[in-house]
Amino acid sequence: MNKHGQRFKGKVALVTGGGGGIGSAAAARLAGEGAQVVVCDADAGAAGRTADRLVEDGLAARLLAFDVTSSGEVEAAVASVVDEFGGVDVLVNNAGINRRGALLDLTAADWDASFAVNVDALFHLCRAVLPRMIEAGGGAIVNTASQWGLHPAPGHIAYNVSKAAVVVFTQNLARDYAPMGVRVNAVCPGEVHTPMLEAGLRRSGRTVADLDALVPFGRIGRPEEVAALIAFLASDEAPYMCGSIVEITGAQAVC
Ligand code: NAD
Repeated sequence: MNKHGQRFKGKVALVTGGGGGIGSAAAARLAGEGAQVVVCDADAGAAGRTADRLVEDGLAARLLAFDVTSSGEVEAAVASVVDEFGGVDVLVNNAGINRRGALLDLTAADWDASFAVNVDALFHLCRAVLPRMIEAGGGAIVNTASQWGLHPAPGHIAYNVSKAAVVVFTQNLARDYAPMGVRVNAVCPGEVHTPMLEAGLRRSGRTVADLDALVPFGRIGRPEEVAALIAFLASDEAPYMCGSIVEITGAQAVC
């Protein structure tokens, strides 16, 4: 028995951005707790490495490479999961990009890409998955927003505004579909040590220790810590959590 239990035994979970830091940890946590996990990412190599690691550990995971910004690819991907596994019980909308810059430093393409990946993808994925969840009598959706969607850090306007949209999307979807038994929640992480964060450090010249020093808890977050929260929100242990926006920050204030 996994040390965390088997809260997802018999469930099918689809995790986007499953090749990245938080997504691969979420996939591992859900699979470790018994889910059949579909590891989704535009980066087939990264998602394949996540899925392979889980399969090597004897867990049920498989790779599904597609671009979350393409409604056609999303529909085909969800249809293939439903064909193969019978439905989708848990959807983790976690793929994201962070195009840095204040308004005058950004291109229109940066702005559009931020919204395509961080927001429009949720529209495509939820529209594809919700009818299956409703048919099945319920389901759980967890969206990865960001602390910066609630408290915007300077110099990241496209990212912050897109993550604010994820927050309101989550609350709105929860209110519309709670009557059908679909719970929708969002996590709002502060700084978490992932490839996305490493890319930011390379650009800024800062170090992990610099970021650690800004967190009252003494260090930035770990992907596994966000994954644990995602799993809790997706699990039957959170039956009355619906429309909740949960910050996970080590008490860090945005400055
Ligand atoms: P990451 O870069 O490690 O992972 C993101 C993954 O999303 C990558 O594997 C990437 O290939 C995938 N992706 C990007 N565009 C895609 C597309 N069009 N289609 C399919 N997949 C695509 O980043 P991470 O830090 O693990 O971030 C995961 C989520 O957490 C993101 O939504 C991010 O905004 C959010 N977040 C991260 C932090 C942090 O400090 N790392 C903080 C708050 C929120």
